[in-house]
Amino acid sequence: MLVFIDESKSINIGRVRSLAFRTTTRQVKTIPESKGVNDPRPISLQFSPNVQEPIRSRIRYAFRVFAAVYDHAVVEDEEGTGAGVLRIYYGEVLSPQTGLDLFYVPALYHQNVFADGGKPPRRLRYAGEEICLACGVDSSSGRPDWLGEIFLWLSSSYERNVSSRDRLGRIPYEQMIFAREGISPRKPHAALLMAWMENALDQGNAKEALPRAPSPISDAEHVVICSHDIDFYYVNRFTALVRLIKNLGVAIVHYRSRSFFFDNLKMTLQLLGGKRIGDYLPALRKAGGEHDFEYTVFVVARQGHRRDPNYRLEQIAGELSGAEEKGISVGVHGSYRSVIEDHTLAEETKVLSKFTGAKVLTNRQHWLRFSEHQVLFEEIERAELLADSTLGFSEAVGFRNGASFAFPPYNFSEERPCEFLEVPLVLMDGSLEAASRVLRRPPQELAEEVLGESRKYGWGGIGLIWHNPIEPLSVPAEINSVFWSCAKRTSKSREKWVSMNQFLTSCIGRYQNAGLLEGMQVEANLIEMGTR
Ligand SMILES: [Zn+2]
Repeated sequence: MLVFIDESKSINIGRVRSLAFRTTTRQVKTIPESKGVNDPRPISLQFSPNVQEPIRSRIRYAFRVFAAVYDHAVVEDEEGTGAGVLRIYYGEVLSPQTGLDLFYVPALYHQNVFADGGKPPRRLRYAGEEICLACGVDSSSGRPDWLGEIFLWLSSSYERNVSSRDRLGRIPYEQMIFAREGISPRKPHAALLMAWMENALDQGNAKEALPRAPSPISDAEHVVICSHDIDFYYVNRFTALVRLIKNLGVAIVHYRSRSFFFDNLKMTLQLLGGKRIGDYLPALRKAGGEHDFEYTVFVVARQGHRRDPNYRLEQIAGELSGAEEKGISVGVHGSYRSVIEDHTLAEETKVLSKFTGAKVLTNRQHWLRFSEHQVLFEEIERAELLADSTLGFSEAVGFRNGASFAFPPYNFSEERPCEFLEVPLVLMDGSLEAASRVLRRPPQELAEEVLGESRKYGWGGIGLIWHNPIEPLSVPAEINSVFWSCAKRTSKSREKWVSMNQFLTSCIGRYQNAGLLEGMQVEANLIEMGTR
């Protein structure tokens, strides 16, 4: 039993507008928030008159995410003149009339940072880390535009002018800044910028440091959202046999793995002997209890393409029934064509909600498949989902948005923060295998590097996904063993592995204190989720 869970407490979560739905009352375990340790320090933002829209909206957004991560309560500047308020002034010049009590952030960000492909980012060393700056440094103050730089990362601006797509229609890794400029994807660049700004706010220029953001949870210093996308499940002997035979080819051509070949050969024989290969959720549930972690399973609700899974919802009904009572949250795994071609994410969410009897709150795209961020975000909002975890790499590990923390993405067409939370996907079984092969580094070492970087600067809010850590059906056994060794070591770093829903109920307050995700309703006492 998890010591930090207070089962008497439950939570009300949903969108305000979804209250029109019939509601059901269910108990969900929550993690107690940390109290008294860090009283949020008020912070305000003021613009110089020559900073105009939409720059203001964008900077205000970056400022609010910073406040959420570092536990500052955002106050309006008129209220912000009291003692103890950190007052930020964002402008092109620091004028003498702005006063000494303002913290100056030079306005270096502009809308055309990446016009004509943009200049390579400037790299400089701060507190022992390499910091990448697309907008450079202000010559008079020597400061970077922390907020503009944070905005560039969180808004996926580095990917906005990439026009090519891979064979699946996704933004290719080779075109991302990491591959193009040789920047490590395993450094949380936006988190480093936040840490630098926090230190400058607190200490000025006196000492270089990258202070860690305080955790909102009393019993954990780092939170990881654990998930399993169900891309294959045992429904009959035939589809299992097809999968296993395909895997023999994958072992030779793709993974070049002896263990994967022989494990799949062995499982083929076991299948023919009557074993239900790919029926892994019961074993996962047992292991979750033993090793003290909770998780979300992402389920595909529609078969619209040959790359969609082999099952129909009714075939895995037994496994999904009463999932929440077993501590498992069920999210929608947007089908292959759901966002790019068919725009069916809302429909799929509705079908799955009806099927599970509880409103589905979270998404991850199958194959991480989307082409335009804006279209993905619109689909997620239309489906009234509260969180997504699609923004990650399919062939590398690390921080695609430079973020080792959850954040609402940015909607450029309406110039506002999105009304859902993105949980950056930082480790995936398949991409860990690929990264380990390309970088010629042990997968365990890479996984620890990514988790370690996140722990260094913050309290997490990042996601990992192993399709099936019980059987070597998706990746070789040595990749699955990385999952278990990380899962067993969590207590050493005061880390908790939780489900998407647990994370939302426990951490959303931070974002709301900063003026984000205000349409999301979260109240302690009772969980009432709309169902249709
Ligand atoms: Zn998938």
